Amino acid sequence: MITEAEIKQGGEWVTIDFAEGVKRRRQVMRCPACAGPINPYDGGGSVPHFAHIKANPHCPLSFRFSGTSKAHPDALA
Ligand SMILES: [Zn+2]
Repeated sequence: MITEAEIKQGGEWVTIDFAEGVKRRRQVMRCPACAGPINPYDGGGSVPHFAHIKANPHCPLSFRFSGTSKAHPDALA
């Protein structure tokens, strides 16, 4: 589960928590593990967390982690 995100601030990626992610929903944010684009997800009674916009089974934070870590195909640098 992705509980933190990274957003670009002053040219550097900084870590933010979920509450901050909700406030900054319109900004581009990435997964701290695979650098793929993510969004805050607060629906449906689940624990609030971030979700990949496009799933990455090779991300260790993914629910369906394949066991092999690989960068997201749309990784943000
Ligand atoms: Zn990821």
